[in-house]
Amino acid sequence: MRRTPPIVFLASLSALASAAAVAVWVGSYFAPALLARDSAGTDPPTVWREVGLYCGRGRIALFLLRLDYPKLNAPEYEAWSSLNRQYPQPTGWRRVRQKGYQPPSDFLGFGFRRAKERIVSRYPNGSRLVIRSSRNELAVPLWAVVLASGASALWAWRRHRRHGRERRLKEGRCLQCGYDLRATRGRCPECGLEPGPVSKLPEL
Ligand SMILES: [Zn+2]
Repeated sequence: MRRTPPIVFLASLSALASAAAVAVWVGSYFAPALLARDSAGTDPPTVWREVGLYCGRGRIALFLLRLDYPKLNAPEYEAWSSLNRQYPQPTGWRRVRQKGYQPPSDFLGFGFRRAKERIVSRYPNGSRLVIRSSRNELAVPLWAVVLASGASALWAWRRHRRHGRERRLKEGRCLQCGYDLRATRGRCPECGLEPGPVSKLPEL
């Protein structure tokens, strides 16, 4: 038994990815979703991150949100803590309700957007906090994912086939069935394939 060559493994993996991408592509029109995961917050707050994944209308998008907190003074910290107790941070992936979310689109459904903002939070005790936010969004159309994985599968498969032909040619075997042709001239006695002009068989 010969081991599976890595190129065959790559071809199968790419074909599988391509099929999965087609399923996601079709599904994205029926069930658009925006998922997000928050980093564990620190106490006192310093940096807070959120990573999000959007899949809808034939596209997937990734967004990264980062909030930088200023150093809090005592009343600010008190306000922040009480609010934090009241609304504990969600953990794990969660579905975000963001109606009408539009991922960036610059060219053929590909898009990149970077936004830096200052968010002003007002707390019930009158404290005012300025948080710096930075948001990066990257969107890719799913047809491109299907195309890329499909092309990769095709390339790997063709390469594997060509290598197989080259090996058979070198070993003096039939290109079609692999029968040892070193003692034969003309057509293959096993499968009847006529040797083409390229198959120069090595002399015995
Ligand atoms: Zn043959």
